[in-house]
Amino acid sequence: MSSPDTYQEYLENYHPHAEEFHQAVKEVCDDIAEEYESSDDYAEWNIIERLIEPDRIIKFRVSWEDDKGKVHVNRAWRVQFHNLLGAYKGGLRFHPTVNESVLKFLGFEQCFKNALTGLPMGGAKGGSDFNPKGKSQREIMRFCQSFMRELYRHIGPDTDVPAGDINVSSNEIGFMFGEYLRINNRWEGVLTGKTPGFGGSCGREEATGYGVIYFLREMLQAHDDSLDNKRILISGSGNVALHAAEKAIAEGALVLTVSDSGGTLYFKDGMTEKELNSIKSLKLDENGRLEEASVGEYQEDKKPWGIDNADIALPCATQNELDDKDAETLLGNEVRILCEGANMPLTDGARKQFLNANALYGPAKAANAGGVAVSGLERSQNAELTTWPISRVDEELNRIMKEIHERCIQHVEKKDGVYPYSRGANIYGFKKLAGAMVAHGI
Ligand code: GLU
Repeated sequence: MSSPDTYQEYLENYHPHAEEFHQAVKEVCDDIAEEYESSDDYAEWNIIERLIEPDRIIKFRVSWEDDKGKVHVNRAWRVQFHNLLGAYKGGLRFHPTVNESVLKFLGFEQCFKNALTGLPMGGAKGGSDFNPKGKSQREIMRFCQSFMRELYRHIGPDTDVPAGDINVSSNEIGFMFGEYLRINNRWEGVLTGKTPGFGGSCGREEATGYGVIYFLREMLQAHDDSLDNKRILISGSGNVALHAAEKAIAEGALVLTVSDSGGTLYFKDGMTEKELNSIKSLKLDENGRLEEASVGEYQEDKKPWGIDNADIALPCATQNELDDKDAETLLGNEVRILCEGANMPLTDGARKQFLNANALYGPAKAANAGGVAVSGLERSQNAELTTWPISRVDEELNRIMKEIHERCIQHVEKKDGVYPYSRGANIYGFKKLAGAMVAHGI
């Protein structure tokens, strides 16, 4: 039986070569060690092993035909982690870096994130190593259809409800949903992130990025501070990054950067709404690159973290994008506020540096939960056969992000004037999931 001190052996035996997954589990186990000791139930019910072992992992082949008639094969997975708090819920990611370790870490994190939203949702994640960059719309459509031809048998509105993630937006969700309808002949809310008007919720696309800023606003308020004139470094230029930028500007902050794998686009005095719109029009989700932008100063091969004179860092690109050296640079430049838009964007070493510096640190599980929260609202709308106006969705999103902030500080106290949000989020999620495990028996 494993405890927060001995779980490593379990991971090495049963989940070897799963670096990202080990990293995500370690973070939680470090934070909950004290809580674990506080009750004999946890050991008696073998909570740690049951927490870190997914319910099931479905692995399948996706064959698809390109525009020239050539047939390709990709690997795909759905990791159904836990349905303790509701049907499995979590996104689908299409990216060449997708593998089982990445999806296990994302699925594990999703359980905690979904618990924090307070909505009845279990945790899951899925996707494929398919790279949609450079593919035509028809190729993407055929891939999505083939992907769904296997996935459909494992999902359902009360079983498992996938959504989008990196490279999976309402476009891909639409192709997958269409295929589900053709196979199943039943219109039901089996996917979220659908196009508004075709079963999707207003505000779902914006929700993750906006939610990051709502959470950041709560964090700042709890420390007698505000977003006003704060200078923000954002990495990434996908859905999360651009909507976080949009909301940050609307809230009176200055957004100095966005980035992609080729470099950073820098705005010395903060980008304007108009400049942001011109970045959006580059169609970065297809084949556009920031380098082609006619606004800002493009710094090739540079990450945003070296820019001095900033107050806040928002890593919104991907896992482990901000490494030990970047953390050193940021802290050296007195950037002591960081909020995670991407899932696990900091390496273990970088995270430790921010925690040791007693920085204001918003963990992804809490800060980027707005996306899945509005997915939860989309499910409610589908079940009620209604559509809510954007005002209602935004109000609910604001409320949920506020409640997530409350839950993060429910079990922790300020240390040297700063709330340890990451620890608070992990303890809250652990207590909730472990409580459900005990309540449900073995
Ligand atoms: N992929 C998003 C996340 O990381 C959203 C998942 C969902 O809406 O189900 O939380």
